[in-house]
Amino acid sequence: MATSDVVTLDECPVCAGTRFETLPTPGRWIGPEVFEPLRGRIGMMDCRECGLAFVNPRPSSQHLGAFYAGSTYDCHETSGSSSAGDTADFLMSRIEPHLPALAPRTVLDYGAGGGGFLIRMRELGWRTRGLEPGQRGLEACRAAGLDVTDAVDELPSAAFGLVTFHHVFEHLEDPGEVLATVRRVLAPDGRLFIEVPNYDSLRAKLALPVLSRNTRVDERFRAYPIHLAYYNAATLGRVLANHGWQVEATFTVGMGLDEFLIDAPANEGTSEALVEARPPAEKAVVPDAPRAPIEAPVPPRKLRHHVRDAYLGLGLGENLAVVARPA
Ligand SMILES: [Zn+2]
Repeated sequence: MATSDVVTLDECPVCAGTRFETLPTPGRWIGPEVFEPLRGRIGMMDCRECGLAFVNPRPSSQHLGAFYAGSTYDCHETSGSSSAGDTADFLMSRIEPHLPALAPRTVLDYGAGGGGFLIRMRELGWRTRGLEPGQRGLEACRAAGLDVTDAVDELPSAAFGLVTFHHVFEHLEDPGEVLATVRRVLAPDGRLFIEVPNYDSLRAKLALPVLSRNTRVDERFRAYPIHLAYYNAATLGRVLANHGWQVEATFTVGMGLDEFLIDAPANEGTSEALVEARPPAEKAVVPDAPRAPIEAPVPPRKLRHHVRDAYLGLGLGENLAVVARPA
């Protein structure tokens, strides 16, 4: 058995705690053609000290790299759709209040995928730059005329007023190393934005194994084993604080309950509700698939909008987002 196939963490990657509880191994795997040989040797653990759920032991960097370079990765961020269009507009409406007036209108999307977020930011008047290690994503970004690189060293220092991570941070093997890079490239007064799946979302809490086995409800540990950590507001804030960042705002995005409502019309409600009900990137199956235009006019606020806002305000939304600054 090649021990280098897997990496075992002796300390929690967030709190350095050493007391873990082994969790059941998820039944649905991303990339079985790469990870199947590791079955029985990788798994999920829960830190008894900070509550982080994380993959441990986890696939080696070589296995993860082989997966991201492979042809099946088009089911994930390379679709570029997770934070494109209206979703980008919504996120920016939450980020903008935290951007100092003097910060340059220059954005780096770290893990740019197919470039969906950057395309929208370019339309909004931002200067854009992308970092994308995946070949398919690089090609998609370049086809869209975006300035994107796969080399961190090519990124200029102190240049970006905003650095964004859209469903990328949970994939990182070494968040501290990446956060150090962000600090180098961030302009004075710049801000960091991170969006990850919310481990405390109502969907995640309701996604019991029996439902995952018998219905189309996805597992709580979605995208196992490439999501290496499942963050909630506390653990994401803690990992940022550990590396010298101060969280300015935390919010949740997306109801995430559409898959529980099997017969409900997908577009019930307003364009805003539709944006928030959109499945996360993992659910997109076709790269660069044309998205149905959202043309419904936005009606006056209704009761369900207030219900939704309360729900998101309770931190139950599908995705967790933070805006942070160097401490
Ligand atoms: Zn911990």
